Amino acid sequence: MNRAQAAGFPVAGEPLAVDLADTIITVHDPATDLLPDEETCQLWWSLQQDRLPDGPWPPLLPTVELRQAIREILDAQIRGSVPSTAAIDYLNDVTARVASTRRLERTPDGWTAVTTHRGPADRPYQLALAAVAESLVDLLVGAARNRLRRCESPACSMLFVASDTRRKFCTQNICANRTRVARHYHRHRPD
Ligand SMILES: [Zn+2]
Repeated sequence: MNRAQAAGFPVAGEPLAVDLADTIITVHDPATDLLPDEETCQLWWSLQQDRLPDGPWPPLLPTVELRQAIREILDAQIRGSVPSTAAIDYLNDVTARVASTRRLERTPDGWTAVTTHRGPADRPYQLALAAVAESLVDLLVGAARNRLRRCESPACSMLFVASDTRRKFCTQNICANRTRVARHYHRHRPD
């Protein structure tokens, strides 16, 4: 989280798909893109490396295209509406570009299943994109979808999964604090 914030990404540590959706600040008009160039895009991917297959990391264009589809689907989920078929198709195209194989292997006391993913030889970065797309699938079909929220700060559009049901803000150190300070100011403002 601290490393991500130091790199300019306020929200981190959410499911991969939510972290990617949070790289655009849609409450600003026009939206503020936290992935404005290839260099920043590579930095964002490298911050996620602990939960991704080995690189190379995807370039900017397919990253922001996937982000757009994910953001549309997540925003629709929060509103209780249905996203466009195009967004769902885009997501499914991304997962379809990776082949996965499940193998049965013996262990000293029984069996284990080993899943391997294989991306296309000419675009190995598809593995990382598919991992993000799959995290959206897992989120939407699992119980966590009911805990998907948008930050309650009016100045913020970040999404997060509330593991604690009382959580209202994307970040304690940014949004919860800012809202507390604003409330304090309004209460103590001279008439
Ligand atoms: Zn926030």
